[in-house]
Amino acid sequence: MNEIKVTLPDGSQRPLPAGSSIFDLAASIGAGLAKAAIAGKIDGNLVDLNTTLADGAKVEIITEKSPEALEIIRHSTSHLMAQAVKALFPQAKVTIGPAIETGFYYDFDVDHPFTPEDLEKIEAKMRELAKADLKIERSELSSAEAVELFKKMGEDYKVELIEDLGADQVSLYTQGDFADLCRGPHLPKTSFCKAFKLTSIAGAYWRGDEKRAMLQRVYGTAFADKKELEAYLERIEEAKKRDHRKLGKELDLFSFNDEVGAGLVIWHPKGAMLRTILEDFERKEHLKRGYDIVLGPQILKTELWQRSGHYENYRENMYFTTVDEQGYGVKPMNCLAHMMIYRSQLRSYRDLPLRYFELGTVHRHERAGVLHGLLRVRGFTQDDAHILCTPDQLDAEIKGVIQFVTEVMGIFGFEFEMELSTRPEKSIGSDDAWELATSALLNALKDSGRPYEINEGDGAFYGPKIDIKLRDALDRRWQCATIQCDFTLPERFDLTYVDADGEKKRPVMVHRVILGAIERFIGVLIEHFAGNFPTWLAPVQATVLTVTDNQIPYAQAAFDKLRAAGVRVQKDFRNEKLGFKIREAQLQKIPYMLVVGDKEVEGGLLAPRFRDGKNLDAMTPEQFIAFIENEVKTYK
Ligand SMILES: [Zn+2]
Ligand SMILES: [Zn+2]
Repeated sequence: MNEIKVTLPDGSQRPLPAGSSIFDLAASIGAGLAKAAIAGKIDGNLVDLNTTLADGAKVEIITEKSPEALEIIRHSTSHLMAQAVKALFPQAKVTIGPAIETGFYYDFDVDHPFTPEDLEKIEAKMRELAKADLKIERSELSSAEAVELFKKMGEDYKVELIEDLGADQVSLYTQGDFADLCRGPHLPKTSFCKAFKLTSIAGAYWRGDEKRAMLQRVYGTAFADKKELEAYLERIEEAKKRDHRKLGKELDLFSFNDEVGAGLVIWHPKGAMLRTILEDFERKEHLKRGYDIVLGPQILKTELWQRSGHYENYRENMYFTTVDEQGYGVKPMNCLAHMMIYRSQLRSYRDLPLRYFELGTVHRHERAGVLHGLLRVRGFTQDDAHILCTPDQLDAEIKGVIQFVTEVMGIFGFEFEMELSTRPEKSIGSDDAWELATSALLNALKDSGRPYEINEGDGAFYGPKIDIKLRDALDRRWQCATIQCDFTLPERFDLTYVDADGEKKRPVMVHRVILGAIERFIGVLIEHFAGNFPTWLAPVQATVLTVTDNQIPYAQAAFDKLRAAGVRVQKDFRNEKLGFKIREAQLQKIPYMLVVGDKEVEGGLLAPRFRDGKNLDAMTPEQFIAFIENEVKTYK
């Protein structure tokens, strides 16, 4: 056969000379496409650009713009890094080097830990090798041959990998004098690695096993072009500046202390104030929407946790204690007390829906390795509520929760995305119950007019749920709100109501949080606002600054007035230069500095200045109080 026909993604057919590669196909379509092509897909499988096409193949050309491109670019850049390391440190042994979500890494066995200077050298070598425009070529050989080859090279880790793989054949990718065991695909030439940066070094055990060799892991990132790389690096820099652990210390909001325990937050005055503001806001918003505030105990009898199933399924994450020979579990969730309130009376359909809200403090044993500032802690407070309603009411209740989330996130300035997780293979509850709950969640999603995704089969075994991920100022996603339907707890605790027909029926139970854990939400808020909290949230809203000691009596009187009116105000009457005091207040990110000089004393005024340096018109203390009250009321 001298000619083959291949099918393109749009369904059209294209004749090509036999023996043509994907690159030849791209070139036959246009010179621009040939230049942009980096790999291909044959019958849905990613392959190298120089792969020969068979007659009848379904082909797609992968360019730098394709969604699949980034992983190929990053994986090829990790090979480029390994080649550079071998060139600079011939004794280094290579192991594995995959692409990851933020870029790539490669683990090396070296006799000394890499230094930042080494990183620079490696990166320079990578540029040199990229410029050399080396061909990246695939070859296949038997496992025995491959073992032989890597043994000769002294690459023991590769030998182990091939032996463990147990395949007859393996593939090898070679560029210049560097060869790596790899499935591929890869870029056609090293010059296609155009935009990369090595970012950090870490220790990592071979195969994650702490009994085996400690390796040096070099992390890097790569993109299709320099502009994307730069934008990414800028975002990383900005995220570092906004890190809530760093700002938490600088703004004196909270701390952790080994003497107290890992993952347990200590709130300092300003952090505790911020928390209180959020909690007051939550109480008000819940009361407005027909929730009742309730409060359960911190420890509950072990038997109760057995009945709820937590003991069976969640014991490892719980703390237990014994009092008067009775076992108790510290609550990891707030549901049980809420059900006890429900059960404390005979309920009629006329009583429903009931919405119990609790700022519930829970403790969960998270592994030490996953603890991370305020984002992952062992003790935290959820804005938790349980809705108990009739099946008929579920639709409206779920809609109400999504509306609630929408309004609250709007106040904080967050966009968000929603995901519905449906019935998994293993589940409890009747088909009817699943159908009812899933359609209520789905209806509410449709009704919201916002985009959503469906994760088929990803729900909990006891009911479907909606996860809400908010998007912060740096376009990062944070899981906060969830809406979870539950068929097991009403069963286990035999919750009932008397329906209009006089029959006893099961209510539907919904667990839901809006902000989620307050700790985590504050961590997100700190990074979202970079510590520049809006006036309504700022733990300190204003600071009174004197120019000289002459103004102290007047400034003190103004300070007293503001504080009495509920403005969160502090003062700085030290005998320091005004510029110095302003800079300090700016570092504390206090929204308003109220400067008092002789002129202000004479006119009975304050001269407010915003933290970004903008001056406002001078005003009386009473006017300033009204101004702050208005900002608070309008969530400015
Ligand atoms: Zn590879
Ligand atoms: Zn719950």
